[in-house]
Amino acid sequence: GPAPESPDPAIAWLEAHGRKFGHFIDGRWTRPGKTFSSDNPATGESLAQVTDGSPEDVDKAVKAARAAFKGWSALSGYERGRYLYAIARAIQKHSRLFAVLESMDNGKPIRESRDLDIPLVARHFYHHAGWAQHIAREFPGQVPYGVCGQIIPWNFPLLMLAWKIAPALAAGNTVILKPAEFTSLTALLFAEICERAGLPKGVVNIVTGMGETGQAIVAHDGIDKIAFTGSTEVGKMIRAATAGTGKGLSLELGGKSPYIVFEDADVDSAIEGLVDAIWFNQGQVCCAGSRLLVQESIEERFIAKLKKRMATLRVGDPLDKAIDIGALVAPVQVERIRDLMKQGIKEGAAVYEPEGTVVPDKGCFLKPALVTNVSPANTLVEEEIFGPVLVAMSFRTPEEAVALANNTKYGLAATIWSENINLALDIAPKVKAGVVWINGTNNFDAAVGFGGYKESGFGREGGREGMAVYLKPGWEKALKAAPAG
Ligand code: NAD
Repeated sequence: GPAPESPDPAIAWLEAHGRKFGHFIDGRWTRPGKTFSSDNPATGESLAQVTDGSPEDVDKAVKAARAAFKGWSALSGYERGRYLYAIARAIQKHSRLFAVLESMDNGKPIRESRDLDIPLVARHFYHHAGWAQHIAREFPGQVPYGVCGQIIPWNFPLLMLAWKIAPALAAGNTVILKPAEFTSLTALLFAEICERAGLPKGVVNIVTGMGETGQAIVAHDGIDKIAFTGSTEVGKMIRAATAGTGKGLSLELGGKSPYIVFEDADVDSAIEGLVDAIWFNQGQVCCAGSRLLVQESIEERFIAKLKKRMATLRVGDPLDKAIDIGALVAPVQVERIRDLMKQGIKEGAAVYEPEGTVVPDKGCFLKPALVTNVSPANTLVEEEIFGPVLVAMSFRTPEEAVALANNTKYGLAATIWSENINLALDIAPKVKAGVVWINGTNNFDAAVGFGGYKESGFGREGGREGMAVYLKPGWEKALKAAPAG
């Protein structure tokens, strides 16, 4: 196959920083404080030391963001848009470095970071550069929230940063963003991009750290709005912590998204879609199609074909361009998934893993797995596994498919596969999910709102709905805009 992608550009960048990072606050790097290691999950090696943000660090960042807010929100949308365009161009220019660093820090296949994550990041900044210029007209009487605290997960480190920072800045907010502790490095590289793009100091502040640093952000009085993506458990804690404070809040949480295949589906396409739905990013995707619901009449044939396809998936070095499944983000996640599997098996589940699949003996690797013989109450059916594990069930009628699809506490995404468009369009609105894909899956675009129902959270990211969550009614502006008389 092709030669693996070289880690050299990422290593050179890390070395240039002495493999040790402070925070990026008020346009400057702080001196590294108490640090923790950011590891490469494919090798177990430490990539760099990253500072564990203290409440004092958070306070410094909030002060910087507050001071910057006045000037940033007073700029015209056109001027803010110019900065966002500059950031988008710089991301494209350094896309190779971003992709390699992302794959080394997170474990995702280089093909994904290079062809999906990083291009989508640039797309997101381009899209919101456009929005910056339309806000006055499209959202009359609306003003930015002020200072936004943004807390993101590790599954799409730079993409989640883009989903948070691009709309916030376009609307005129300033931000303090905390990356997840496993994956801080591309956020730190992004800080450097902001610096080089000449972004006014204090508009973007990156504070690294653990959950406690996130807690300090959530608790800080000087923050006007919190945006969080991550586990439902932490999302609930944040909602409780912000209740009664007057802070704005948007939450993008877990999922257990159904992937419904009807008997008249194009089976080969449905199987390719399924590979993408559940084994993309090792299954660490909030909207992963993790619950296969297949019509009973084709179940046997479908499962047999799926097993054959699973046997062709290659697991290995994330920098190898020929692999399909890379490393999971950290040993603790591998353990979590193994424990869930053990529990599911105890409750009666059967697990298929292709025998011939070779998995590196070091690093956070798991084989793709298919779980069958489950009741709706099985742990593996109910819980978000966040790993390369597909759970399969069958249904007889479309009504039963809808009932099974909705039998979950989550409501993030759903996929429907059928050659009968009338059937698909009839089912789509009956499935309670923020996004429903028909004969396709995992289609994302900066122009389309993404987000959930039920315990998957609220608020949308992307498009017009995504802009709306970073704006609020503004008294002064509304009065000024009102015609005199
Ligand atoms: P998490 O919710 O613990 O972490 C997400 C972010 O929140 C991280 O930046 C973390 O440091 C921060 N955080 C943790 N505790 C906090 C607190 N009390 N207050 C404020 N911030 C806090 O998620 P995780 O540990 O990375 O993953 C655990 C599980 O969450 C996964 O296995 C998966 O089921 C789910 N998950 C979902 C998504 C998603 O996009 N929906 C993403 C990542 C993880």
